[in-house]
Amino acid sequence: MINETPRVRFAPSPTGYLHVGGLRTALYNYLFAKKNNGKFILRIEDTDQNRFVEGAFENLIETLNWVGLTSDEGPKTGGEFGPYLQSKRLDIYMKHALQLIEEGKAYYAFDTPERLQTLREEQYKNKLQPIYDKLALQLSKKEVEKKLAAGEPFVIRMNIQPGTKVVINDIIRGRVEFDREVIDDQILIKSDGYPTYHLANVVDDHLMKITHVIRGEEWLSSTPKHILLYNFFGWELPEFAHLPLLLNQDKSKLSKRQGDVAVEDYKSKGYFKEALINFVALLGWSAGDDKEFYNIDELIEKFSLERVQKSGAVFNVEKLNWINSEHLKNKPLEELLILLKEELRISDFSENDYSDDYLKRVINSMKERVTFVSEYLVKSDYFFRPPVSYDENIIQKRWDISTPDNLNNLIEEFEKLENPNHSDYEAALKSVAEKLQIGSGKLIHPVRLAVSGVGVGPGIFELLEIVGKDEVIERIKTAINKIR
Ligand code: GLU
Repeated sequence: MINETPRVRFAPSPTGYLHVGGLRTALYNYLFAKKNNGKFILRIEDTDQNRFVEGAFENLIETLNWVGLTSDEGPKTGGEFGPYLQSKRLDIYMKHALQLIEEGKAYYAFDTPERLQTLREEQYKNKLQPIYDKLALQLSKKEVEKKLAAGEPFVIRMNIQPGTKVVINDIIRGRVEFDREVIDDQILIKSDGYPTYHLANVVDDHLMKITHVIRGEEWLSSTPKHILLYNFFGWELPEFAHLPLLLNQDKSKLSKRQGDVAVEDYKSKGYFKEALINFVALLGWSAGDDKEFYNIDELIEKFSLERVQKSGAVFNVEKLNWINSEHLKNKPLEELLILLKEELRISDFSENDYSDDYLKRVINSMKERVTFVSEYLVKSDYFFRPPVSYDENIIQKRWDISTPDNLNNLIEEFEKLENPNHSDYEAALKSVAEKLQIGSGKLIHPVRLAVSGVGVGPGIFELLEIVGKDEVIERIKTAINKIR
């Protein structure tokens, strides 16, 4: 396969949302394809009728497009190996299953659910592996035909020879061996006529000329069956790469119970797609240096399956938050401006009251202090309205009997300023402190409280410059009246 163009696929079963684990699988496939001038294919594995969710696959494609993982071939994009929706390929699977029956590599089985249940219970009692006992193979060709003609429900099973050993050479996990005990006569066609995941997956990977199967570790145990199927059909094997599990902080398997698992949830919480991609890329892969901030082009350049780890990868939301804040800091001002305006539009503040120039100054002053754009309206709401309350702790610590007098002196000095910038405010404040023979802290903290209502924020003089002289003076006067 060395000279072939790599063809990889993301093959989700639509559940209604895109799981972050699915995003990681999609991303690694995408990075591998882009890095190696290959093709990234999206195939929807929707053959489980019980799990049908209206609009699920459209939603999935939308989310993939949002993060930028657009496919070269897929249900919406098209391509020469379609259809890319498995539910539209049922005749293909049946044809392949019948071919295996013809060759003695698969067989019809007519067992009732009750019989299978009894079989399982017996095996359990005798501490045997719960696998099918091949009873159906005792039926003659005639008997099978009679049952089929009578419309008896059936499944089609793989006919696996006892003692079959399978070895996988996984790009990430190395050599993995499986022996017969664990390989059941897997059902290929279910009684509803639909293929199982195993049959559809292998047939499609072959017909779609997939060269590398890159998927989550939870599918590793299915791989022996897949390899046997490739052998049954006489097809060349793809390469396999099984990605490490995603874990909660406590090392249990990543679950909804301990946090969000849907990419859509992170989107609606205001995470940047660049940050999600960056974060998810590091769930099981590293370039081998200390770098943790990447854009997609750097990831494409650096990515290799050989550097994917075997052990589980812990999903750490704090790290995601940090990465999000780093991406925020790195975004062009114009882009942040658009995003902030959008936040203002859906907020109680009016978006039209502020000039672009004003908003840009707000953005820059708080860039180091926010993780999400929406936080501008929460952590620095004072840029959009006067304080509605004053932090009690700061009052206790920083506001004393002399404060109103000190601030009145400061107002007097501020009033003399014309179009002041931050250094003008600084000089004015220093001169008042000197005149009153107090430390500048005695003015700085109360002024910040008066102007912002809180004790933290951008540099005080920058804050004053952005809020503007008239408003600053107004707010100081209000605070003097309100705080006792
Ligand atoms: N449909 C499977 C899933 O939902 C695909 C697994 C594979 O990539 O083979 O993840």
